[in-house]
Amino acid sequence: MTDCIFCKIANGEFGTEFIYEDEKTVVFKDINPKAPVHLLVVPKVHVENLNELEDRELMADLLCAVKKAAKKVGLNSYRLQVNTGKEAGQEVMHLHIHILGK
Ligand code: 5GP
Ligand code: ZN
Repeated sequence: MTDCIFCKIANGEFGTEFIYEDEKTVVFKDINPKAPVHLLVVPKVHVENLNELEDRELMADLLCAVKKAAKKVGLNSYRLQVNTGKEAGQEVMHLHIHILGK
């Protein structure tokens, strides 16, 4: 999607440093961290939120990316948050999993 910030980040348009990247996902630091470690796991394809995600393989890929990124930054213990819908606090309308740790 052309005007989507996370599509642009995932496409490398802003030169954002990726903590982890594979064929389907990227992981980068949240710009406004709410925990000492705050990462965002984002699919490369535009999906609005969890309600719109029908690709079961991509669901698994996203959780694999969570594990790999957490391991890479030395996080053994962390929380995940997936805000789904505006009323739940979703501000960026491109699916993302928050990893919150330490
Ligand atoms: P939401 O409230 O949609 O679940 O979370 C969106 C998150 O994206 C927020 O924690 C916010 O700080 C982060 N964010 C918004 N814009 C950018 C950006 O341009 N770069 C990065 N790295 N994070 C962003
Ligand atoms: Zn997008």
